[in-house]
Amino acid sequence: MQPRDLSDHSPYVPGRGVEEVARDRGLDPDDLIKLSSNENPHGPSPAAVEAIHEHADRVHQYPKSSHTDLTAKLAAKWDVPTEQVWVSPGADGSIDYLSRAALEPGDAVLAPTPGFAYYGMSARYHHGEVSEYALSPDDDFAQDAETVLTAYGGERIVYLTSPHNPSGSVMPLDEVRAIADATAEETLVVVDEAYGEFTEVDSAVPLTAERDDVAVLRTFSKAYGLAGLRVGYCVVPEAWGEAYARVNTPFAASELGCRAALAALDDEEHVAESVETARWAREYIADELDAPTVESAGNFVLAEVGDAERVAEEAQERGVIIRDCTSFGLPSHVRISTGTREGTCEAVDRLNETLSDLELGARP
Ligand code: PMP
Repeated sequence: MQPRDLSDHSPYVPGRGVEEVARDRGLDPDDLIKLSSNENPHGPSPAAVEAIHEHADRVHQYPKSSHTDLTAKLAAKWDVPTEQVWVSPGADGSIDYLSRAALEPGDAVLAPTPGFAYYGMSARYHHGEVSEYALSPDDDFAQDAETVLTAYGGERIVYLTSPHNPSGSVMPLDEVRAIADATAEETLVVVDEAYGEFTEVDSAVPLTAERDDVAVLRTFSKAYGLAGLRVGYCVVPEAWGEAYARVNTPFAASELGCRAALAALDDEEHVAESVETARWAREYIADELDAPTVESAGNFVLAEVGDAERVAEEAQERGVIIRDCTSFGLPSHVRISTGTREGTCEAVDRLNETLSDLELGARP
């Protein structure tokens, strides 16, 4: 007996982990600087860690009030009714919930290429199809309505990523509005703001009050430093609120995840420091790295380095883990997550050494 035909389904390629690289290369994990998964280099908020300890002895119970409280707190934060907030296991979970709620078998989604792989993966799991619109290195992956609408062919969901992974480019709110205006009544425009805290561009969440065809994804994995706990959410149009109970996996956002997220929301200082460091570090990388970079509004920078696989490999030898973007369809680019100030400076030094050694080695 076999599973169904999954040949169209590509496995998700995550950034490499510290333990994994240390083991492969016989290095001390403490000597490695991991800048491959856009995580928060400051770690979680101490208040979140305290909340995890405080609630650890209650995990024999299903998460109920913590989930209700988190939904209410997020609704208050964004000034939307609680029904419009769908808490999920990571923003990935929200993508699945939207696929379940929106897609009939054979319905298509339109997603950026290069882009975050899970939009297409989720659509395929839910018996949907995937079309793509191209963002180009030639104009620094600029995002506008025309680029999306030229490729649009009536898909049920259109994914916009702002800031965009892996480039860091943004889709201005007016362009989001223009896309929602121009697409069919039955097309949901999903604005993925997983990196929203790091940008100065306005969030699309207020559009969910104005109109019934925009949803927004957010996560606790990045600025809030809770990637390991898997908590995200989606703000959906009013008419979609009721669908949550029909599509969500019961109790998928865990007790400790919800408790930690509640505490993290109150720790504004931790988020502010995380955002400030990321903004500083992305400028530093752009200024100091000996390779062309793309202007980024996220907590990472895309750099054009020639042979990305080779550069990422060699950088690992020097203790820096970065993301080879070949799996994004960008074999000449690496993505470097922003680290602490010290970690970023050290990483850029080691990356510049790597680039210089490879260039010297390549000369006849
Ligand atoms: N959207 C984008 C653009 C991402 O890069 C990621 C994670 N790398 C996610 C969504 C999902 O994040 P999570 O499931 O950890 O919330």
